[in-house]
Amino acid sequence: LDPETFAGESRAVINFLADYYRDVDTYPVQPQDLPGCLRALLPDAPPENGEPIDVILEEVRTHIVPALTNWQSPKFFGYFPMNASTAGFAGEMLSTGLNIVPFMRVASPAATELESAVVDWMGKLMGLPDRFLFSGGGGGVLHGSTCEAVVCTLAAARDRALSRLGHEGILRLVVYASDQSHCTFQKGARIVGIPRSNFRVIPTSASSGYGLTSDSVRDAVEADVASGLVPLYLCATVGTTGLGAVDPVRDLGELARRHGMWLHVDAAYAGSALICPEFQHHIDGAELADSVSMNPHKWFLTNMDCCCLWVASPAALTSALSTNPEYLSNVTEESAGAGVVDYKDWQIALSRPFRAMKLWVVLRRYGGAGMRAYVRRHVEMAKWFEQALEADGRFEVVAPTRFSLVTFRLRPRHEGDDDAVDALNRRLLVAVNASGRAFMTHFVVDGKFVIRMAVGGAMTEMRHVQDTWELVREKAREVGALP
Ligand code: PLP
Repeated sequence: LDPETFAGESRAVINFLADYYRDVDTYPVQPQDLPGCLRALLPDAPPENGEPIDVILEEVRTHIVPALTNWQSPKFFGYFPMNASTAGFAGEMLSTGLNIVPFMRVASPAATELESAVVDWMGKLMGLPDRFLFSGGGGGVLHGSTCEAVVCTLAAARDRALSRLGHEGILRLVVYASDQSHCTFQKGARIVGIPRSNFRVIPTSASSGYGLTSDSVRDAVEADVASGLVPLYLCATVGTTGLGAVDPVRDLGELARRHGMWLHVDAAYAGSALICPEFQHHIDGAELADSVSMNPHKWFLTNMDCCCLWVASPAALTSALSTNPEYLSNVTEESAGAGVVDYKDWQIALSRPFRAMKLWVVLRRYGGAGMRAYVRRHVEMAKWFEQALEADGRFEVVAPTRFSLVTFRLRPRHEGDDDAVDALNRRLLVAVNASGRAFMTHFVVDGKFVIRMAVGGAMTEMRHVQDTWELVREKAREVGALP
């Protein structure tokens, strides 16, 4: 790495990206090209000799950008937001530029300490109980994704149970989630060896806003106990993926405690809103949980990837995940003592990036007040969109808009018109996305096709939301909804 070339080429990349962000508003949010369009432009093998950065950047501009779905477009409302920001990028540059690997404290004391400090900061901002903070006997770690975090908590819960039951007990362990929980729990349960038949999907309904009720979980748990099974793990979600629903954390926590289950609170998306006091009631009862996770890479201005996982008992996590090969043993007395955080024992991978730098720069640059204002702006835009839908008799809002996710559909014109109205809503979503002027995704609940508008892009302003409302009305007319 030659510092001068590094500086020059990095500047070229930054200029390229600055142009991208300047113009992204004018690009179709989703490319209209067919799959394979880029592959056809690429040679079969890499070049034999290196090429200049400007040639490469020109190909990014001409070949790659036109075939991107532009997640950073202010009119991207699909899935959940994946925020980028100036501070997130600065933090990522510092992390990538320094390129250290903090898998153990001895491998980089500053990175380990920064990570422990920054997860405590985040926990405090979100109002998490002290037991999840290092200062309160728990602690946190930065993973790449909620999926990884969930696998680690499932492994910790499994090992805690098997230390009582013996290894054969694994066939009796049961994991509980709702029909709205993220599929990561099912995948994670399989990875840690829970029999597929021991994964319970508890139904939810409109009457509870698609959140779990502790009665329905209790019934399932008691039936399992009666047949000799062992309740292991319960997932409560604050802000489900499909509808933004919220499970009652305190009720589920009390139930989990009664049955010795591990309770995980998944706040992947809505965890960002929990920094605002007006949303903190959604995690009332979190002191009864064993672990909590949220993704700053979704709606917290932190570029991919970054997931905070907090556990009340670091020992439960590390006893499931720690390994001590000779080539990693500490020879320095200073880092071998009890209480030293070696993050390799808090996650799956050994090598890991310096994610703490990124989240630290974001927190320093915007501060708690800046982040709260950021979240509230999106909540306000989502409310505006919801009110526009409600004022227009042709649409229904499917689940209450608790954060910044609006779920809606065209109403059936007559009783029993459900199939036809599903087809109409599907056509509406396709037409909106084909316009290139906005991008949304869908969900199906109670057999109904629902359109999801997830507000939360770093560059999204009220005018984008208002334009998108005009677009939805225009396309609704085009696909045949009554004017
Ligand atoms: N949990 C919820 C509620 C989510 O919405 C998502 C992703 O959207 C996930 C978990 C998975 O997160 P990740 O992609 O970080 O694994």
